[in-house]
Amino acid sequence: MIYRFKIDNTFLTVELSDSVLAHFNKHAQHTDESPEAGGQLFANIAKDGSHWVVTSATGPRPSDKRSRFLFKPDRRIERREIHAEFVRGNHYVGDWHTHPQRSPQPSASDTLSMAEIFEKSIHQLPGVLMIIVGIHPPPEGIWISLHNSREAALPLSEQRR
Ligand SMILES: [Zn+2]
Repeated sequence: MIYRFKIDNTFLTVELSDSVLAHFNKHAQHTDESPEAGGQLFANIAKDGSHWVVTSATGPRPSDKRSRFLFKPDRRIERREIHAEFVRGNHYVGDWHTHPQRSPQPSASDTLSMAEIFEKSIHQLPGVLMIIVGIHPPPEGIWISLHNSREAALPLSEQRR
């Protein structure tokens, strides 16, 4: 899956690898009992910064707090993941979590928390990704947006709809 974004007058291409999509599908809330899942997203970033290949999605971990409508990640493990992936040349680029919806929509707190994550993170990225995995297969079942402290950008094709 390839998405194009424009944020702060910068164009960005985001590619989700097949293994990341498979990881999402494995944790999607396919049954009434499935709890929310989530984790972090890591990408290979081309030298000029305009092309991200999301190569790994972490989580959920046993120490995360999870219920049908809640996912609270273990922040200590997340920091360890960021370090371990960085050593492998992968950069933290955002978070993912699931919703028990066919075509997922972010809650107000989902959007707020992404602006906070952007402000707290130490990196040179124009924004951080939020991916929400619903029940439908992609593309309908995947919400993707790019956030900084001022903007929440949707993929360019969706903005034309
Ligand atoms: Zn959510």
